[in-house]
Amino acid sequence: MVTIDGSEGEGGGQVLRNACALSLVTGEPFTIENIRGGRDQPGLMRQHLTAIEAACMIGGAECEGMELGSSRIIFRPGSVTGGDYSFAVGTAGSTALVLQTVLVPLALADKPSHLVIEGGTHASMAPPFDFIEKCFLPVFARMGPKVGMRIKRHGFFPRGGGRIEIDIEPAPLRRIECIDRGEPTGRSGSVLYASLDDTIAARFRKAALKSLPDWSNDAIVLRELPADQGPGIALILESGFENVTEIVSGFGKLGLSAERIGRTAGKRMAGYEASGAFAGPYLQDQLLLPMALAGGGAFTSVKISQHTRTAADIIALFTGRGTQFEDAGPKGQLVRIV
Ligand code: AMP
Repeated sequence: MVTIDGSEGEGGGQVLRNACALSLVTGEPFTIENIRGGRDQPGLMRQHLTAIEAACMIGGAECEGMELGSSRIIFRPGSVTGGDYSFAVGTAGSTALVLQTVLVPLALADKPSHLVIEGGTHASMAPPFDFIEKCFLPVFARMGPKVGMRIKRHGFFPRGGGRIEIDIEPAPLRRIECIDRGEPTGRSGSVLYASLDDTIAARFRKAALKSLPDWSNDAIVLRELPADQGPGIALILESGFENVTEIVSGFGKLGLSAERIGRTAGKRMAGYEASGAFAGPYLQDQLLLPMALAGGGAFTSVKISQHTRTAADIIALFTGRGTQFEDAGPKGQLVRIV
């Protein structure tokens, strides 16, 4: 039984999701205390419960302590079975983070899976749909499994109501090295908005472009969604390279101006483009789990995040595999799972 203190390191939900995925693949049960102990509102929230329920469903697992606000669970895995599954978060809690919990176990399962996940698709502190589809999955596909995904309906904070569908074709995970991102292949972006004035979307675009002086003025399009998917607004910036596509996002939030959200996203993208690294700050922590379960791998990245260090610690607890961080000069940091 692996024992985890959920307040250590980054202290958020990722500890729990990675633990569920690692437990399902390794067959090792775990107990976690002080769940999300590093957050202002600690304990299990609706989206974490959905992620654990999803892990139980696909993996014939049993879990004690599954209540809203719970700070301790005991998780005992069974065997993972591919198939048709539906999970609903019930709030704007992230569909991508539920997927993150079950994706790698199902990609290593006995047969293909088709998933429907309902909840938020474009809300802060989680990967938007576009990030999973265009940034994470193409790299994951190089490890072997084929995963296709579609968005049927967008879900913004606080209403949620989004819907994504995913097809997973399992395959053994291959080790890969992602050192060079290659030459630039193109830049684009969109402002997705529903039930909000066009002028707000235009302000997002203007602010982002102001922080991206090398981007052409028509690179970012405004895309209005059906009003019943709103209200909500998200800015998605995409910078393609031969070997990877970086997706930077910004989400509308009451109290934050369109200018501030657009400027922050633009600056983040400018920082990534200037860096020479393969993985941006979020792909960095999300690549560790599949690479560890592939038995190793390496990638270059921007400054190492606390999420990444914590993911490395949890991976070591379940697999005994270590993660090394080295300076890679103009390519940033080299992350190697050994
Ligand atoms: P936690 O904060 O522990 O719930 O984990 C959040 C997860 O969402 C991490 O895996 C982050 O890499 C990921 N994440 C958060 N914000 C973004 C974003 N804007 N784009 C892509 N991934 C994100």
